[in-house]
Amino acid sequence: MIRERPRRAHRGGGRAYNRVLENAVQVAPDFATRLRGIEGLRLETGVPLKAHTRFSIGGPADFFGWADCPRALGEAFHAARQEGIPCYLLGDGSNVVVSDDGFRGLVLRYAADRLSYRGGAIEADAGGSLQALVDLTLDHGFEGMHTLTRIPGSVGGAVYGNAGAYGHQIDEFVERVDFLDGMEVRSFGPAECEFEYRESVFKRRKDWLILAVRLVLPHGEPSALRARADEIRKVRDDKFPPAMRCAGSIFKNLRIDSLPASAAAVVPARAVRAGKVASAFFLEQVGAKGMRRGGIEIASYHANLLYNRGGGTAAQIRELATELKVRVRERFGFDVEEEVQYVG
Ligand SMILES: Cc1cc2nc3c(=O)[nH]c(=O)nc-3n(C[C@H](O)[C@H](O)[C@H](O)COP(=O)(O)OP(=O)(O)OC[C@H]3O[C@@H](n4cnc5c(N)ncnc54)[C@H](O)[C@@H]3O)c2cc1C
Repeated sequence: MIRERPRRAHRGGGRAYNRVLENAVQVAPDFATRLRGIEGLRLETGVPLKAHTRFSIGGPADFFGWADCPRALGEAFHAARQEGIPCYLLGDGSNVVVSDDGFRGLVLRYAADRLSYRGGAIEADAGGSLQALVDLTLDHGFEGMHTLTRIPGSVGGAVYGNAGAYGHQIDEFVERVDFLDGMEVRSFGPAECEFEYRESVFKRRKDWLILAVRLVLPHGEPSALRARADEIRKVRDDKFPPAMRCAGSIFKNLRIDSLPASAAAVVPARAVRAGKVASAFFLEQVGAKGMRRGGIEIASYHANLLYNRGGGTAAQIRELATELKVRVRERFGFDVEEEVQYVG
């Protein structure tokens, strides 16, 4: 079986990896054949995951499948489960840190990206881009999603992590989420999705694959919405230049009422917005800005922004993140929690 192979056999390519890959295909020949037989699934092997992550980091996946439709996605996921082969559903890779050793198993991407407005609601397939969805809301003069302008990633990734910025999160507008549970398509309303700040039930149920979302938004004043979206685009592009290899903020922000009293006491009132304080506030005080491990650096202007200067590794990101967590715990007595998802 594929899981019996040694886990640390390669570092992203070359002859050693080719041997692992041959081994993967040999030990799971039926699996590869089974995947190739799924209509609507395009299968590749030995795909470097760094090509699919915004950090440009990540070793190869044994199998990488693009699923065009819910059936293909479900069949591939189900096949992996039956064979005992690990399976991971990746979106646009803007919020993941993939191991330098890659992923021993099957990585899936959902390619369906239909987007429509009808019956007073917007419907978006999970594989489409969040920005395309934001643009559609602007085209129709809807208010709310405009503040999510320039958040990278897919619609599915945005629902999974309840993406948001500048006062709005996607959950405010969700009417229904369709997802795959095994081979069954189910639908949840917003309450069942258990949305919270950067959280949803889908973070706890990795076997539920988001297929589509239906959103209802209030009308706004179209030119004012566009002007605000343009402002936000500019601010974000200055903070996160489009070519920057990063995941946005690495740690979640913090509810002020969840902090120990001694830590909350050092936060000035102006640093609290909607009951939350930026993790960057504490990270800055433990000397995060400008810290470096190999090719990974923390921005000099933003203590919660780790980026890959070039040649950075997942191990270096983990080392830096761990160091920051230790420093915050020792100084302030609480844990900062990663917003990024570690894979592999
Ligand atoms: C420059 C920059 C700025 C950012 N700014 C913000 C911001 O302001 N606000 C914010 O909220 N986020 C921000 N992010 C983080 C990121 O853009 C969001 O988390 C985004 O929603 C992730 O989407 P993705 O498709 O890239 O997901 P991925 O990174 O590919 O995956 C993230 C998680 O979602 C899961 N997932 C993806 N698709 C599905 C699906 N269909 N079904 C089930 N699970 C799925 C994956 O398994 C994974 O666990 C920023 C990132 C960057 C790089």
